[in-house]
Amino acid sequence: MLEVAPKIKTLVPYVTGKPIEETQREYGIKKVIKLASNENPLGASPKVYSALKKALKQKLHLYPDGACFELKKSYSKIFGFKTEELVFGNGSDELMGLLLQAYCQPGDSVVTFQNSFVAFKISAQAHCLNTFEIKIKGDLQYDVEALILFIKNDWTPKHKFIYLANPNNPTGAYITREQMKALVDAVLLRRDLILVIDEAYLEFVRANDYGYAEKFLKTCPNLVLLRTMSKAYGLAGLRVGILIGNPQVIEPVAKVRTPFSVNGLAQVAGVAALSDPNHVKKSVKLAWAGIEYYNSELKKMGLKVYPSQGNFVLFDCGRDVSGIFESLLKRGLILRPLKNYGLNNLIRLSVGTMKNNKFAISAIKKVLAKG
Ligand SMILES: *Cc1c(COP(=O)(O)O)cnc(C)c1O
Repeated sequence: MLEVAPKIKTLVPYVTGKPIEETQREYGIKKVIKLASNENPLGASPKVYSALKKALKQKLHLYPDGACFELKKSYSKIFGFKTEELVFGNGSDELMGLLLQAYCQPGDSVVTFQNSFVAFKISAQAHCLNTFEIKIKGDLQYDVEALILFIKNDWTPKHKFIYLANPNNPTGAYITREQMKALVDAVLLRRDLILVIDEAYLEFVRANDYGYAEKFLKTCPNLVLLRTMSKAYGLAGLRVGILIGNPQVIEPVAKVRTPFSVNGLAQVAGVAALSDPNHVKKSVKLAWAGIEYYNSELKKMGLKVYPSQGNFVLFDCGRDVSGIFESLLKRGLILRPLKNYGLNNLIRLSVGTMKNNKFAISAIKKVLAKG
């Protein structure tokens, strides 16, 4: 038998949120609420559903537009990018892999932070790359100064990428305005690397000192942004991700993409979703209200809650959460344990509708009261 590549043999695939149907089957319960994948509890905009209804008849049997012309046009018009500065993909997940495919060879390295979003690291391993993790600070915050020192002192030609989720999932850590400026300055000193800032939760950010990366795109060609329509736009099931950057830098990514990776219905849905900014506003408001609610309820239970800039809350149970997670499942609540991040005492909870948030708090209360 042909040997599996060593990096693939030891690859641990991405752990997705436990599906509702699976939980219903395993525990023999009907009512199951999933707050485990940071999905939009409002669903997509009503405009998306009516656009899809029409498109179903017209588009299902046709190959999609490989260039995503309409989607690019809408996005560029709304956010002020040139269409050449955009590549759409089958979720930002696909775009992460394509970046690595376009720029790396087996044995190269990517640099990221400990506890930063794991999908990029998994993709790196799948491409036979090494990942170097910069240690984080106490309280799960990014140590940007340590990263800058690494760029200045320890960077080698084998290192190709820096990947940062801003804000991060699952820890909620974010890079401040000053840190972003310092990081970009350091990156500008070396042109032989690409800095990827993953802004999956950009719409939810509230911190006054949050470091927006977009303004550096003009002066820093080796900076690219990843965005997604999976969260605030509620299109996680259709898979629409966006890569934004210098046309020369992102062109190789477009080249290695399979031409039809963004399907026709996803493109229609994307355009419709972009035409309804009010739905995004409503979704963000709901997330903020949910975070306030969880903050106060979880703190009342004596639990440590981490500050969040996303649509999720991270809290510390003070002990290994495996048993708690299991008991919550029995009560029909799917949350997200973070064992795969080595954070054994923490649970991540996605903000839902207020009704589901109340259900979650009541279930957590009951389970923790049992000890
Ligand atoms: C959810 C999430 C994404 C989005 O991934 P898609 O493939 O676009 O659905 C990307 N990055 C982070 C940090 C996320 O949490």
